[in-house]
Amino acid sequence: MDDCLFCRIGAKKIPSKIVYEDDRVFAFEDINPQAPTHILIAPWKHLVSLTEAAEEDALLLGHVLLVAAKLARERQLLEGYRTVFNNGRGSGQSVFHLHLHLLGGRSFRWPPG
Ligand code: AMP
Ligand code: ZN
Repeated sequence: MDDCLFCRIGAKKIPSKIVYEDDRVFAFEDINPQAPTHILIAPWKHLVSLTEAAEEDALLLGHVLLVAAKLARERQLLEGYRTVFNNGRGSGQSVFHLHLHLLGGRSFRWPPG
């Protein structure tokens, strides 16, 4: 998708700090970090959000979550970390290519804002 920011980041047409990639997903530093660690994990496959995901995406979505856990372990986010999918404008989603936020390195409140 030429007009999608995260497809363009994945294709290296827009510079970013990519911290991980494999055959299914890529992960990069958020440009406007909300915590000392703030990484976005996105599938290469352009999915708009969880709402548009289908049963055939189940393994891919599980992999996105496991990559978050792996990066959290590697970064030793021992006190805990937060994983967030924003889905739709009302939730704060601003880039319409599915991505998981991995936030860590500070304490978090509940409920989230
Ligand atoms: P969301 O609001 O859940 O759609 O998350 C989009 C995230 O993408 C925000 O946290 C932005 O700071 C981040 N973002 C926007 N543009 C870029 C970019 N060029 N490189 C890295 N992160 C970005
Ligand atoms: Zn995309």
